[in-house]
Amino acid sequence: MKGNISVNTENIFPIIKKSLYSNQEVFLRELVSNAVDASQKIRALANMGQFSKELGELFIDVKIDHDAKTLTIMDRGLGMTADEINKYINQVAFSGATEFMETYKDKLKEETMIGAFGLGFYSAFMVASKVTIDSLSYQDEAQPAFWSCDGSTEFEISEGTRTERGTTITLHISEDAEEYLQESRINEILQKYCLFLPVPIHFGTETRKEGEGDEAVEITEPVIINQTKPIWSQKPSELTDEDYLNFYEVLFPFHEKPLFWIHLNVDFPFNLTGVLYFPKFKADFDPNKNKIRLFSNQVFITDSVEEIVPDFMRLLHGVIDSPDIPLNVSRSFLQTDGNVKKITAHITKKISDKLAELFKNDRAGFEEKWADLDLFVKYGMLTEEKFSEKAKDFFLVKDQDGKLYDWTAYENLISANQTDKDGNKIVLYFANRDQQTAAIEQAIARSYSILELGHAIDPHWIGNLEQKLEKVRFKRIDSEPIDKIIGKDEVIPSLIGEEEAKTVKEKVEKLLEEDKSLVVKTEACGLDVHPITITMNEFMRRMHDMEALGGKSMFGNMPMMHDVVINTAHPLIKKIMEMPEENQNESWKYLVDVAKLSQGMLRGKELNQFIQHALNKI
Ligand code: ADP
Ligand code: MG
Repeated sequence: MKGNISVNTENIFPIIKKSLYSNQEVFLRELVSNAVDASQKIRALANMGQFSKELGELFIDVKIDHDAKTLTIMDRGLGMTADEINKYINQVAFSGATEFMETYKDKLKEETMIGAFGLGFYSAFMVASKVTIDSLSYQDEAQPAFWSCDGSTEFEISEGTRTERGTTITLHISEDAEEYLQESRINEILQKYCLFLPVPIHFGTETRKEGEGDEAVEITEPVIINQTKPIWSQKPSELTDEDYLNFYEVLFPFHEKPLFWIHLNVDFPFNLTGVLYFPKFKADFDPNKNKIRLFSNQVFITDSVEEIVPDFMRLLHGVIDSPDIPLNVSRSFLQTDGNVKKITAHITKKISDKLAELFKNDRAGFEEKWADLDLFVKYGMLTEEKFSEKAKDFFLVKDQDGKLYDWTAYENLISANQTDKDGNKIVLYFANRDQQTAAIEQAIARSYSILELGHAIDPHWIGNLEQKLEKVRFKRIDSEPIDKIIGKDEVIPSLIGEEEAKTVKEKVEKLLEEDKSLVVKTEACGLDVHPITITMNEFMRRMHDMEALGGKSMFGNMPMMHDVVINTAHPLIKKIMEMPEENQNESWKYLVDVAKLSQGMLRGKELNQFIQHALNKI
């Protein structure tokens, strides 16, 4: 047997009304969108020569009547006859917008429709106990029609009162939704969703004086709340830098000027326009800030774009408009929607192309902006494989003198002096110039180049880069004694014997007994390495840093382990060994303190004791 599933309207209707939208306020977006569609349709019909009477000024009027407790949305669009109300309104989920687009798809120019599902109108019942439609169609000899419904499945149609073409939707606001009778609330919703709709929206009036003295007359005019031609809907070739900057100001008042921007404009394989600005990325960027607004045919949809825009892109500011991202949809739908993936891929490409172009055509400008781009590019490389592939050609690194290099140039620079015995290029870096001064100076003395990589993102970024680059290792400047850091084959003779070395080690260990995070070692290093140096294994430190940024914990709450390296090739070690036994300890302590001091690890009581000790020497 075959059959049709039947839906009982009385049961399903309340579900449609209540749960179609998670957000009640969008009812106004839906009704104004319908008014925009109606206006666009009559404009389109006029353009196609199918409507030859006076078009007049097209606008939408939103009004509150406090006495009647109503909110009305009035348009001068194409209107509806009683038959059409029956067809479009009484048949839930039949979209007139879709039908219109289908009918005229070859003839439409720039008019696009917002509606798609034929459900938006019913969102009015989320806030209204009764809704009426008063409409006069543009068609010759059309009669005004009136429709009224209290939210049940029953409706009434009778003769309407409109004398001018268009539609008036009146919402009798329910008692539990009285906020929608407040000017400020309605204004807020209009500002949020309707700011860039293509038809002027009037809400409230403004009075101004014209003329001087006795001649002066007061003129009252409606306030237009929207900008009908936002820049993303215009051609890039017709826009100046100032237009872009002004628009940024409209979107994000009181923000610092953006660095530059990309104008998105694609028709294929989907329709998408938008403008994304690169802000100056501050050291403490917050990728959770919602600074990208998503529109569909100039109607605001959301500014929480997590599922639609990849993480790193959310550092950008601006707007994306795609009619392919439908209005009334749930987040999970968006995630699985193939269009969204394509959109993401497209924007990623646009961004990397823009950066590559700047890098190529304006290297000086690119370098100037690098400080502000650095984080964005690194974040992008970490989170988007496609972006990373492109970015490896244009990311820059900065050496101890502030000089910038692209990666190819930098690898060349260090290849002669900083290749270890296994053929790995060792990239040295520091995170904190003040704390790592001693090691930096030692490296400079050996003509090594050192990069500044001090941001919390850097440990992640270099880990990621090491996986992509061949035979390149990053080592922080204090991860090993300077003459061991490049890992050459040379052997440095120790000045003391093995037995003596063991004795020194034990003495220093005894001294540091209390501190379980210090591991004492002996090693014959060059003369430029202090008698005692404190280092921290690169791998351990990186793990630690990544944990600090919220990565996974590999060591639980283990303290940061440091190596205390005794340089057995240093004459001072030998000298202390030759001192009378009872004087030695003070010197060992002194050397350990100096080592701690140069690592910024000497603090509090210990530091104070050291200072006293130093003063007593004078
Ligand atoms: P959609 O906009 O997705 O088509 P709606 O439920 O919002 O669905 O509206 C259903 C239909 O009712 C519209 O497609 C349109 O044909 C008609 N309609 C709604 N509002 C108006 C209006 N203000 N003027 C003319 N027609 C309207
Ligand atoms: Mg609609």
